[in-house]
Amino acid sequence: MKYMLEDMTWTEVEEALKNKNSVIVPFGSVEEHGPHLPTSTDSDLCYAIVKKGTEGTDFLVAPIVNYGLCRSTREFPGTVSLRFETLMQLVKDILFELVNQGFKKIVLFSFHAGSTHLTALKEAAFDFTLKNKNIKVFLVSSIDLAGEELLKVLETIPQHACELETSLMLFLRPETVEMEKAFEEYPSGPRFLVTPSGREWMKTGVMGDPRKASSEKGKKIFNLMTQRLREILTDIINQ
Ligand SMILES: [Zn+2]
Repeated sequence: MKYMLEDMTWTEVEEALKNKNSVIVPFGSVEEHGPHLPTSTDSDLCYAIVKKGTEGTDFLVAPIVNYGLCRSTREFPGTVSLRFETLMQLVKDILFELVNQGFKKIVLFSFHAGSTHLTALKEAAFDFTLKNKNIKVFLVSSIDLAGEELLKVLETIPQHACELETSLMLFLRPETVEMEKAFEEYPSGPRFLVTPSGREWMKTGVMGDPRKASSEKGKKIFNLMTQRLREILTDIINQ
């Protein structure tokens, strides 16, 4: 049974809507991920986890939103960030159209988990449900998929372009990873200062230690994350 909207014709979507009214909208980012990972990292990981995690569930999957909001990594070549207002409007437009077609439960799932990015998604969902009280919008991020068992697989705390993301990429898209260019960095900026980018105090664009990554860890992490997403979606279906 097809469940990825991008693979379906309008007649197949119409048919699917007769039995299903839940949809998940995946969000990635267009963002630097160090000298060793492609800028598509968040989107690649997001879509792979959502595809696998929703297989066999009552959810349909909307096409991924590749662009997101990136603050600290702005000004690294390759990072293309949306403004807060743009992302909010984009999410509201997508929600409006999906609801108009008959969807009643909508999960916004973001692999990119920057705090301002997630706030924009949350605010859009909040605004939308204020005016559409019969619609349920849920916000889930990659942070919600990282349980204790997952942290046990890792030697370092997951941050950005780190052991976790690099392991997942080594497992899912090894041809895109250049491990000889993977460096450890734990950048720290000036405290309390509000700045338009973290480029000034970040050297490599890495936060963490990707040198500890491996494909075997990536496989374990992928299985744990997809399993956790499935549990969350089952919980949501029953709400
Ligand atoms: Zn990332």
